[in-house]
Amino acid sequence: MIIDILKNTDDYNEFLQSVKNSQQMHTFLLISKDSFYSLEMATLFAKALLCPETCELCPNCKKVNSRTHPDVKFYPENKKLLVEDSKKIVEESSIKPIFSDKKIFIISSIDNSTEEAQNKLLKSLEEPNDAVYYILTATNLDKILPTIISRCNKIELSQVNKNEIKPFLKGDDCTNELALCLGGGYLNKTIEISKMKNLQEIFELCTDILLKLNSSKQALFFVKKILDFKNDFNTIIEMLCFLIEDALLIKAQKKEEIKFKLFEKEISQISSELSIKCLSSFIPVINKAMKESFFNVNPFLIVDNLVMNFLEVKYLCK
Ligand SMILES: [Zn+2]
Repeated sequence: MIIDILKNTDDYNEFLQSVKNSQQMHTFLLISKDSFYSLEMATLFAKALLCPETCELCPNCKKVNSRTHPDVKFYPENKKLLVEDSKKIVEESSIKPIFSDKKIFIISSIDNSTEEAQNKLLKSLEEPNDAVYYILTATNLDKILPTIISRCNKIELSQVNKNEIKPFLKGDDCTNELALCLGGGYLNKTIEISKMKNLQEIFELCTDILLKLNSSKQALFFVKKILDFKNDFNTIIEMLCFLIEDALLIKAQKKEEIKFKLFEKEISQISSELSIKCLSSFIPVINKAMKESFFNVNPFLIVDNLVMNFLEVKYLCK
């Protein structure tokens, strides 16, 4: 179960220790790129505050799991925390717990909320009641008011060991191997990628782009192909990055460090057919495409630029 992974982490054990050692700690901010993971961890922290063994069987644990615990509130109620949510939190904070001896607010993705909502929430965080705990989660600290951050005990959640993630993956061996690389140690991201039915097709497309793109006619073909996978554009970009990095590792005689271990044959072919100069010149092209994608440039333009620039690099490095 995912809960076993969470309980095994240093982050969780350090949380238990810090709560044990200090009665003053009432506000926590969990930081991770994987918002699913940080919410799971926040939920576990809440259970641990009510049931130190987190037995999963007692009424406290069960009610937290089903989100029906009267003293454990999950916010935001919709996608992001609004001023109304913050007002409710402030009000509810002053009401005594009914089922247990603590009142816990889990506020996920605080970085998605408006400044007004954060300001309103600050009032609660500034005047903590002894029985009240706040567990916030976030991916991006830059979007949180410094006054909120300074009130919190920050916990940067570590990535999960790949071997621990493996049992939860949903694809076949090849898909799972690709997902583990692309997931970068983030539990939910890796599981989601392993569910992609077309991951191996994307892998083949990326190796084809690197190996077979040699004319403008082929460029048009690949542009069309990539646009067919338009929802998976970021996966394609990430995959290209890994392939190029792995091919460069083989060039550097560091075969044992490559990430796509199951696909050594394909990577070796890329490495033998393209020069170091060519492979390393692809990297700024990819970075540019990533940036454009982030800023929502027209997808056709991004893909067209990417493929044409790849072709130019290949031509110049011949
Ligand atoms: Zn329990």
